[in-house]
Amino acid sequence: MTDNSSPKVVLVTGASSGIGEGIAAHLATTGHHVVAGARRTDRLDALSRRVRAAGGSIDTHALDVTDRADFARFVAAALDEHGRIDVLVNNAGVMPLSRLDSLLVDQWNQMLDVNVRGLLHGIAETLPVFQRQDSGHFITIASIGAHQVSETAAVYCGTKYAAWAITEGLRLELAPSIRVTTVSPGVVESELADTITDATARQAMTEYRAASIPPAAIASAVAYAIEQPADVDVNELVIRPTRQR
Ligand code: NDP
Repeated sequence: MTDNSSPKVVLVTGASSGIGEGIAAHLATTGHHVVAGARRTDRLDALSRRVRAAGGSIDTHALDVTDRADFARFVAAALDEHGRIDVLVNNAGVMPLSRLDSLLVDQWNQMLDVNVRGLLHGIAETLPVFQRQDSGHFITIASIGAHQVSETAAVYCGTKYAAWAITEGLRLELAPSIRVTTVSPGVVESELADTITDATARQAMTEYRAASIPPAAIASAVAYAIEQPADVDVNELVIRPTRQR
C-alpha cells in the first residue's frame, strides 16, 4: 500500500457553518491545509481565527458556487497559495423544503443552482487540475435524501439523487488516478433547516431533526476517506444518528 498520511491541500465549499465548517476546522487542525469558501466572509474570518489560534493552516475566500467564474477564482487562489490541490469537498447546499403544490419555484431553482450546478462548477474547475497532477480526490456531501424520498423533500432529494449520480459517474470515469467519495449524512446539527419558509415543512423538520449528531461526526468520516492509502478509494459512507430510522 502507498503511504497517504502526508498533509493535503483540501478545498471545502460551504465552510461558513454546519458540516462544512466542521470539516474545515477538523482537517485544518489535524495537519492538512484547508482552503475554505462560502458567501458569508465574516463567518469564514471567525473560523480562520479559531483554526489559526489552534495552530491550524487555513485560507478563506468569498465563494458563490452558483457562479462558475467565482469557483474558478477560488481554485486559482488555492493553486497560487499551495501549488496543488489534493481534495475538493463539495459541501455547499441549501434545503428550503416544501410540498410540490406550494409551487415555490424560486426555491426549487435555488436548490438546483446550489446543490447541482454548484457541484458541477466545482468539478469543472478542479477536474483539469487533478488530471494535470494525475491525482486528486472529489468528496461530495450528498444526503440520506440521495437514497430515499420523503414528502416536502421531492426537489431537495432530486438534487441529492443527482449529486449521488454525478459523483458515481466521476468515480467510474476517473479511476484509478482520481479518488471519489460520496458521504451521505443523516440529521446533523447545522443551519440547514433555517431556510424553510413553508410552515408545514418547517414543523415536520423540527420533529425530524430532534435527534441529531454534530458536524464532527461527518468531519471524521471525511478525514477517514482522505487519509486512506492512495490505492484505497472509500466510495461511499452513510452516517446517521443511531436513533434515526
Ligand atoms: P448549513 O446551512 O449549516 O451550511 C450550508 C453551507 O452551504 C453554508 O456554509 C453556506 O454558506 C453554504 N452555501 C449555501 N449556498 C451557497 C452558495 N451559493 N455558494 C457557496 N456556499 C453556499 O447546512 P449543513 O452544514 O447541514 O449543509 C452542508 C451540506 O450537508 C449540504 O449539502 C446539505 O445538503 C448536506 N446535508 C446536511 C444534513 C444535515 O442534517 N445537516 C443531512 C444531509 C446532508 P454561505 O451561506 O455563507 O454561502
